[in-house]
Amino acid sequence: MELLDRIKSEVDIRQVARDLGFEVSTNRRMICPFHEEDTPSMVFYPMPQNEFHCFGCGKHGDVINLYADVCGLDFKTALLRLAYTYIPGFGEPIQNPKKKKIEKVIVKKKPENAPFEFKELFSVIYEDFRDFCLAQKPTQSTYDAANYLRSRGIDDWMIRHFKIFVIKNYAQVNDYLKNKYTFRDLQDCGLVNDKGNLIFFVHPIIFPFYQNDRITYLQARTIGPPPEKTSKYQFLANVPRQVFNLDSLRGLKLNSLVYLTEGAIDCMTLTKIGKNAVSLGSVNTYRKEWSKIFKRYRVIIWFDNDEAGRKGAKDLREKLDLAGIWVEEKELQPDFNDINEYFLTKQ
Ligand SMILES: [Zn+2]
Repeated sequence: MELLDRIKSEVDIRQVARDLGFEVSTNRRMICPFHEEDTPSMVFYPMPQNEFHCFGCGKHGDVINLYADVCGLDFKTALLRLAYTYIPGFGEPIQNPKKKKIEKVIVKKKPENAPFEFKELFSVIYEDFRDFCLAQKPTQSTYDAANYLRSRGIDDWMIRHFKIFVIKNYAQVNDYLKNKYTFRDLQDCGLVNDKGNLIFFVHPIIFPFYQNDRITYLQARTIGPPPEKTSKYQFLANVPRQVFNLDSLRGLKLNSLVYLTEGAIDCMTLTKIGKNAVSLGSVNTYRKEWSKIFKRYRVIIWFDNDEAGRKGAKDLREKLDLAGIWVEEKELQPDFNDINEYFLTKQ
């Protein structure tokens, strides 16, 4: 087994933390060394994850990342020092590094710039992921997520209608996917990062995108405001964005009004009050092939009330105009940032 794997699977992250002088509690928490705090919000996930995550600042990683960042070392030096300290037989500096090159991780990676190609397997994996999450026992995250969604005006009907689900136990889901699918398949469908871990670490609320009743894309959100340096939404890695709520357009009459929103929650809000709405995910994600979807309708762009939203709406309007699509823009009253806020206040 090559060194990286050995360190990850044999060197207990909690032991390393203790040896670095930190106090790790019995419930596997400690004061985060990467941000200032009084109560411990860094949590350790034991083997086989052997990772840490801070719920205060969002920082996470494996035993090598922890050691490297605490000691101010680069990854490779940290790896070798950990080996020297914890793996018997690594007393000497490595004599012949060629024998020990980290091949496994690199070879399995998707080639750079490979064009994206959607496979039915991706839907199978997304749906399996959903079913596993739905079957998990409720945790604190379940209640926190439900409370958060309610605070944004998303009630039980909407949760069912849009089939929103929550990752209740990250470690379990992560394990399940890793054991069931190959790294390459998980990476191709955008669910994992370079290390093979599920990317929705701080984004447990999942909005599935359905197309002809199959999940073809996923978008995830933090519960409440995101931790520093993290965005509130997480999209699949390296998978082209899709239109949220596309299936709602099925059977819609020619020339019906369809609202295009930025955020999925805005789209849900409009749907709740009886409008036809889809979400593009952000202001600048428009793909040419979507024009043939929207050609049948009269489109109203209703983006956020900020500079990015206004500019995005103007650009999109031009694109749709060029494609021969009937399009109008709608602007929010100046007091409101987005559609959701507007309707929440009106209620
Ligand atoms: Zn932290």
